[in-house]
Amino acid sequence: MTDDLRTAPGDPTDAVPTDLPEAAPADGTDAAPSALPARGVPAEQVLAEIRALRAADRPTHGGRLFAYVYDPAVPGLDDLASAAHAGSAHVNGLDPTAFPSLLAMENALVGAAVRLLGGGPGTAAPDAVGSVTSGGTESLILAVKAARDAHPDIAEPRIVVPVSAHAAFAKAAHYLRVALDPVPVSPQTLRPEVADVAAAIRPETVLVACSAPSYAHGVLDPVEQIAAVAARSGVRCHVDACFGGWTLPYLRRLGLPVPRFDLSVPGVTSISVDLHKYAYVPKGVSVLLHRDAALRAPQYFAFADWPGYTMVNPVIASTRSGGPIAAAYATLRHIGDAGYVELAGRTVEAVRHLAASVRGTEGLRLMAEPESTVVCFTSTDPGLDLFVLVDELTARGWHTQPQMTYGELPASVHLTVTASVAPKVAEFGPDLAAAVAAARAAGPVRLPAELLSLAAGLSPDALTPELVAGLADGLGLGGSGGLPDRTATVNTLLDAAPPALRERLLVEFVGLLQRPTF
Ligand SMILES: *Cc1c(COP(=O)(O)O)cnc(C)c1O
Repeated sequence: MTDDLRTAPGDPTDAVPTDLPEAAPADGTDAAPSALPARGVPAEQVLAEIRALRAADRPTHGGRLFAYVYDPAVPGLDDLASAAHAGSAHVNGLDPTAFPSLLAMENALVGAAVRLLGGGPGTAAPDAVGSVTSGGTESLILAVKAARDAHPDIAEPRIVVPVSAHAAFAKAAHYLRVALDPVPVSPQTLRPEVADVAAAIRPETVLVACSAPSYAHGVLDPVEQIAAVAARSGVRCHVDACFGGWTLPYLRRLGLPVPRFDLSVPGVTSISVDLHKYAYVPKGVSVLLHRDAALRAPQYFAFADWPGYTMVNPVIASTRSGGPIAAAYATLRHIGDAGYVELAGRTVEAVRHLAASVRGTEGLRLMAEPESTVVCFTSTDPGLDLFVLVDELTARGWHTQPQMTYGELPASVHLTVTASVAPKVAEFGPDLAAAVAAARAAGPVRLPAELLSLAAGLSPDALTPELVAGLADGLGLGGSGGLPDRTATVNTLLDAAPPALRERLLVEFVGLLQRPTF
C-alpha cells in the first residue's frame, strides 16, 4: 500500500515534503510518534507503539485506581466487550432506520434501565422512555435542555442545583445559557436542606436537580422530599443517578437501607444512569430516562430547513458509533441481573474494609458513613497533609482522587470503589498506615508566602501567559508538557485559590499540555 502512495518523480505533489522527520521528538518527553508518517507503519508496530504509550497510564485493572475506571474483574468480559465493540464500530447511530441493530440494542438498554430504576409495566412509571447518550455529562445537559425547551415562555430559565451535585450541571447551565441557583449543603450531612431547595425555586425555575448519590462524597440527597417540593411548584425534577443508578438497586436487594430515589418517587420526572460506571461497560454509554414521552420530546432536535438529509437527533452527537452501544449490550447480557447482585456484594465488602481502614487511622475522618460505593475521608490533623498523603498512596500503587476545600467543606480524598478492589483490600490498610506515617514525616506542603497570597488574592483576569508559564515551571509542570510525579504542590496552590482562579489556572495548565506534536 505504501508503494502506491509514493509520488512519482516530477509529480506536482513532489512539492509536498515527504522527508519530514518521523522519529519521536528528541526532547525526552513521551510524545507519540507522528500520527501521519510519510509512509504507513505495519499494524504490529503501531500496536506496539500504543502499548508503549499506555505504559505511562494509571492501571485500569487490578483494583488500585479509585477514580476514572470501573473494573468488575470478570474474566473474559473485556474480550467480549471488545469483540462486540469491533463488530459495530462502523455502524452509525445517526439514522436508526438505516441501522435497526442499534435501535434494537438501544431500546433494550433503555428497557433494562427503566426496569432497574422503578419504571415499566406494572409500576408507577409505566410510560417511561429514554435515550442512550455518550456519558453522564451529556445525559445531564440533555435533561437541562429538555426542561429549558419545554418552557419557551420563560425568557431567562433557571435551574436549582445543590452545590454537591456534579459539575456537569454547571456545564449544562453554561452551554445552554440557563442560570444556576446553587443550594448549599450542610457540612455535617453533606446534603441540601429541603427548605433551602424550596426557597430557591422561582417562577423562572425549569428544573430542580438532586443526586443519588453525589459523586464527591457518595451521599444521597433527600430525593422524595425534593421531588415533592418541585412537583408542588410544577417544576421538573431530575435525579442524577449517573454514579449510583446501577448499584443502589442491587445494594437494596442485598439488604442495605437504600431510600427511594428513582421513578417510583412521585415528582421525579427524569433520571440518569451511567452504564460506563457500575454497569461496567466500556466508556461512552449513559442512559437518560423520562417519566413519559411528552417530557422527553423537547430533548430532541430536528432540522429540515437545509438541502441535505432531514436531521433528527435525540442526543447531542449526530454521527455516533455503534461500538459502545453493542459493547454495553453484550456486557449487560453477559453479566446479567444475578451477576450484578454478586458484583455489588463484592463492592460493598470492599467499601466496608476501606472504611474500616480509614476509621482505624488516627488523623483521618470519614466525610460520611458510606451509603453506596464511595469512601471519602479528610484529615483532622494539621500535620497530616492530605495532598501529601495522596502522593504517598500513589507511590505505594494506590491511585486516589484529591478534592479541594470548598466553602465550609474541608479538602478530602475520594475513592470510587468497584468490585475489583475486593481481592486487594487487605493490602490497603497497611499501605495507608505507611503512607500516613510518611506524610506526617514529610510534613505539610509549604509554599512561599508570596505565592500563597498571590493565589488567594489574584483576579483570574490578571493572569498573563507569562505568569502562567512561570507558575507552571515553578510547579514542575515543565514547559515541554511533562507531568510531575508529585502533585501535592500543585494541589496546595490550587487549594489556596478561590474557585474562579482554580478554574482559570487549570484551563491554562491543561492548555499548556495540549500542544500539537509533529
Ligand atoms: C460521573 C458523573 C457524572 C458525569 O459523567 P461523565 O460520564 O463523566 O460525563 C455526572 N454525575 C455524577 C453523579 C457522576 O458520578
